[in-house]
Amino acid sequence: MRQTGSVTTDEPVSAALRDAKARARSTHYTVGTLQTDGDGTVWLECSCGTVLRNGPTWTLDEHVRLHRAEAKYLELSTSAPVGIPRLIALP
Ligand SMILES: [Zn+2]
Repeated sequence: MRQTGSVTTDEPVSAALRDAKARARSTHYTVGTLQTDGDGTVWLECSCGTVLRNGPTWTLDEHVRLHRAEAKYLELSTSAPVGIPRLIALP
């Protein structure tokens, strides 16, 4: 059991947020094999249909990491409790 101010909880992270994180992982994973185009572009497809690729100022790994972070953010943000202070406000 953990105590935070006047709020006492049994779980540091709710099931809803754990599920959100798991949902992001299970819906955004790379599929197929690494493809290389003639112009030096390397790319992979995400299971959501997004093509993850390198670009003029970023690597494929950077795109994969950003995509996963965005997917996790969107799922967590959607599932977060109402009233929780946010860095990025919901529209
Ligand atoms: Zn994806």
